[in-house]
Amino acid sequence: MKLFFSNRQLAHQPQQYMVHGKLIRAFENNDRATTLLEALAGAGLHPLEPTDHGLAPALSVHADHFIDFLQTAYAEFMKLPNAGPEVLPNIHAYVGATPSLAPRGKPRPTGIIGRSGWYVGDLSAVIMEGTWESALVSAHAAVSAADAILAGDQAAFALCRPPGHHAYVDRASGFCFVNNAAIAAERLRSRYKRVAILDFDTHHGDGTQAIFYERDDVFFGSVHTDPSAYYPHYLGYADELGAGKGAGFNLNRPLAFGSDDTAFITANHDIINAALKFGAEAMVISAGWDAHHKDPLSKLKVTTDAYARIGDLYGKLSFPMVIVQEGGYSLEAIAESARIFTQAFRAAKGV
Ligand SMILES: [Zn+2]
Repeated sequence: MKLFFSNRQLAHQPQQYMVHGKLIRAFENNDRATTLLEALAGAGLHPLEPTDHGLAPALSVHADHFIDFLQTAYAEFMKLPNAGPEVLPNIHAYVGATPSLAPRGKPRPTGIIGRSGWYVGDLSAVIMEGTWESALVSAHAAVSAADAILAGDQAAFALCRPPGHHAYVDRASGFCFVNNAAIAAERLRSRYKRVAILDFDTHHGDGTQAIFYERDDVFFGSVHTDPSAYYPHYLGYADELGAGKGAGFNLNRPLAFGSDDTAFITANHDIINAALKFGAEAMVISAGWDAHHKDPLSKLKVTTDAYARIGDLYGKLSFPMVIVQEGGYSLEAIAESARIFTQAFRAAKGV
């Protein structure tokens, strides 16, 4: 089983993260990547450099004007008088003022503050000098993993960092800039008629859901913490079932605060069964380790053992699969969870 990662993904070194009204050190930092590399080496995986595909993969799911913004935002922001160290907008666009949440077109403002408030959804997706390089290469890791499947492998792991599942067609948020899982799914669609994306990160994959919400060729299923008092707050509810042609092809399994291994594993069973019913021919797994009870963001009581159990569950499925790294912020928890999941997955799948 191949693993894709590049040291260029370490260029993104955000310093700030707003939590409960305070700016603290960014949780989504380089230590995560180095810890995950060690953990995956423990599961027998060693990184290969992703192939450079330029902008095409990012443009396969994102608006071109948003990609332009990501490339130029830091340099423009730094021209502001008295600029801080990173792009952090002090205003956000009001979505109710626009006809729909989905692609909204280019913003009216031409200044960097108004554009940042349009394209950046919250104060966790800070953009610094190396952000674009890392986000682009992170997407290339997802494409390289999908290409390994297209070349005949049964499974591949993309160590995507920064992560991607909170990135919308035209919005960065939740530590995410480019939606790696969506890009991998689009790549797999070049061969497979029906692709499922299953997401067990403890935060709902709102960007991924929104990208495919009206489509019948990509199913999205997510197991996550109840968003009524938890990030991403505005999406991830059980009654979001898809719309238009996509009606019936979206399934959310929000878990109440304090949910344990049994609830977490059962919910994973549910989304797997829905993907089977959908007739998935290939799968992308958005893998986050932040449901773990040791994670600083977790509200659940999930243990390391649950990741072995679901690694076995996913590994027993017959589809070719791309595992895409999403969140997980306790170095201790991700070191254990990523390793044990991958070991169980490889043993069950025979890869
Ligand atoms: Zn998460």
